[in-house]
Order: sequence, then C-alpha cells, then structure tokens
Amino acid sequence: MPGQADDHERIMAFADIALGQMKALRQPATPRNYEIWYAYATGYHPSLNQKINETLQQTGQLTDGDLEQIYTAYLSPARMSEKIDKVNSQVMGEIEQVMAMIDAAAGSANSYSESLHDMSEQLGQSKDREGLRAIVESLVQTAKEMHVSNQKLEERLSASKQEINELQVNLEAVRNESLTDPLTQLANRKYFDTTLEQAIAEARAKNEPLSLMMTDIDHFKTFNDSFGHLTGDQVLRLVAMSVKQNVKGQDTVARYGGEEFAIILPNTVLRSAITVADHIRRAVMTKELMKRSTGEHLGRVTVSIGVATVHKSDSAQTMIERTDACLYAAKRHGRNRVICETDPEVAGCTPAAQVA
Ligand code: GH3
Ligand code: MG
Ligand code: MG
Repeated sequence: MPGQADDHERIMAFADIALGQMKALRQPATPRNYEIWYAYATGYHPSLNQKINETLQQTGQLTDGDLEQIYTAYLSPARMSEKIDKVNSQVMGEIEQVMAMIDAAAGSANSYSESLHDMSEQLGQSKDREGLRAIVESLVQTAKEMHVSNQKLEERLSASKQEINELQVNLEAVRNESLTDPLTQLANRKYFDTTLEQAIAEARAKNEPLSLMMTDIDHFKTFNDSFGHLTGDQVLRLVAMSVKQNVKGQDTVARYGGEEFAIILPNTVLRSAITVADHIRRAVMTKELMKRSTGEHLGRVTVSIGVATVHKSDSAQTMIERTDACLYAAKRHGRNRVICETDPEVAGCTPAAQVA
C-alpha cells in the first residue's frame, strides 16, 4: 500500500507540473485552473488531456472560456449528478409524450366508434341508393383517417422506443463511469467491494468454489523514483492490461489501491487460481518496458501475488485479509512469486508483520 511519504512526493510532482503549465501559458493560478492542470498532470482523465491538447494545437492558447468549458465538462463535482438528472428528465419527457399520444389515440378511437355507430343508424334508415353511397363514402373516409392516425401513432411509438433505448445506453455509460478507475479503465474499488460480496453469496448459494487474488507491483516506488510518476502510470496501465489478458470473462479485475490489483475468480478452486496467478506473474515479468516518447529502456517490473479461496464462514473482509496475508508472505519471501493460503510461508505472516 502506498506510504504517506510516497503519496506526498507523487502529489508534489503533479503539483509542479500543474504550476509549470499555468506559468508557461500565463494563466492565473486560480483553484479552478490548478485543478484542471493537476488533473492533466495525473493523466486520470484521458479525454480532458485530449481536449486540452487539441485546443492548444488548434489555437495555441486556452482562453478563460475554454477553461470554464473544460472544467464543467470533465471536472465539476456536479457533473455526474447533472448527467443522471438530464437522462432522468429526458426519460420523463419521453414518457409524457407517449402518454399524450396514447390519450390522443384513445380519443380518435372513441370518435371512430361513435361515427361507426351513427353511420350504422343512418344505414338502417336510408332508403335510396344515393343515401347509401354517401354513407359508404363517409365510412371509407373515416376508416382512412383512422388508418393515418394509427400509422402516426405507430411511427411515434417506434421513435420513442429508439429514444428510450438510447437513453438506457446513456444511463449505462454514466453508471459504468462511476464504477471505473480512470487510469486503468478497470473496475474501481467500489465495484470490487460489491462484486466480492455478491460472489461470496453466490458461491455459498450454489455451493461452488470462489478464489480471490491480490497483486502488488514489486519495488514500484523505486521505479517511480528512477523514471518519474508519469512513466509509472503508463506501467500501471500495462500491468493492468497483462492481468486482464490472463483472466476469463467471468472474472472481475479491479484496481484495489495505488499499484494493487484484485481479481475475483468465481467457480474457481485454489489450484486453478494459482495457475492463473502464475500466468499473470510471468506475463508481467517478461515484458520489456520502453518509454514510447524517447525509446528509453526501462527494464522490467515484477509482481507478487497472494491467493486465497472462500471458506464457509468468510465475509468479504476475512477473505481479503487472508489474501492480503498471502501477498505479504510473497513479499517477505523474495517477491516476484505467488503464495496461497495453504503454503507454509503464510504461517504467522500477517500484513502487520510486513517487512520493507
Ligand atoms: P513492495 O515491493 O514492497 O510493494 O515495494 P513498493 O515500492 O511497491 O511499495 P508499496 O507497494 O508500499 O508502494 C507503492 C508505491 O507505488 C508508492 C507509489 O510510489 C507507487 N504508486 C502508488 N499508486 C501509484 C499510481 O497511481 N501511479 C504511480 N506512478 N505510482 C503509484
Ligand atoms: Mg502497494
Ligand atoms: Mg508495491
């Protein structure tokens, strides 16, 4: 887990970049501008960075209007709830329109049946051919009108259906965003917490196995110190990808903390989870890292992994604690290794007994 001193250093590095950018572009150091440039430095919001880079490329500057727009679009705390409110009000608007259409359709169906009734009475009274002809023409006309109004209703309903489908996709996107880690695009801690609770309940209900894995990059602080936090972030993304590529679709990979990833493996026994963990470990250690912008070789990073499986009386917390104890045992016994809860190395090895 990242220590306070590391966090401080990391934050200061981002702060330096943020202040440097404001100076270079001669922007006032207001809290809003600082927040924008700080977010830019972290790279947590790829779309914000893209927008800034594009604007700078096109106009060579960022006006106050640009900054205001960027802040509102990407950072304003009200952004998420505004998005949800917007989709909600669109859904309500759509429902109102559909209700109005249905009311109108019910109205025209009523008047149609009334005119049919009137005509059938007139038909009974009509004596001559001319009279009959007029009634039939009027019948045809009314039926045509009804057909047109039905067609309009159908078109409107199908447009509504499409609109509602799109709104559903929007809502899903907002929901996904709130459960995704912006740096790695993996599930975030909030998603992990609920998914693990559900997975434990499901394993118990179906009497199926369930395993949990925790990975932590080895000596990542040293890596950051040597190559900088921004490069460290790129490596974090790469490790995240390696983890993701080595698990199945039913598994959940989440960013648990700074440079720690947790993987929930439903319907998986301990032995199989260890095999997966070892694939991940090998995949990470065989990647030769290179800084894209300069071609500089950065060596390799390794990960330590702890693996545990669900017990009858487990809660999410006890399962995490056991997995964490395995992870720390892996660190203590040399790093770049997988340790599971039945390995002898775990005995007496709790996170509290961690060594640097
Ligand atoms: P160990 O082998 O014991 O895990 O050593 P470590 O240096 O990796 O120690 P630890 O896991 O406690 O420290 C985590 C370090 O990872 C601290 C910080 O420098 C770095 N880190 C945490 N989160 C991030 C992040 O989001 N980006 C970058 N670049 N570095 C991070
Ligand atoms: Mg850590
Ligand atoms: Mg680490």
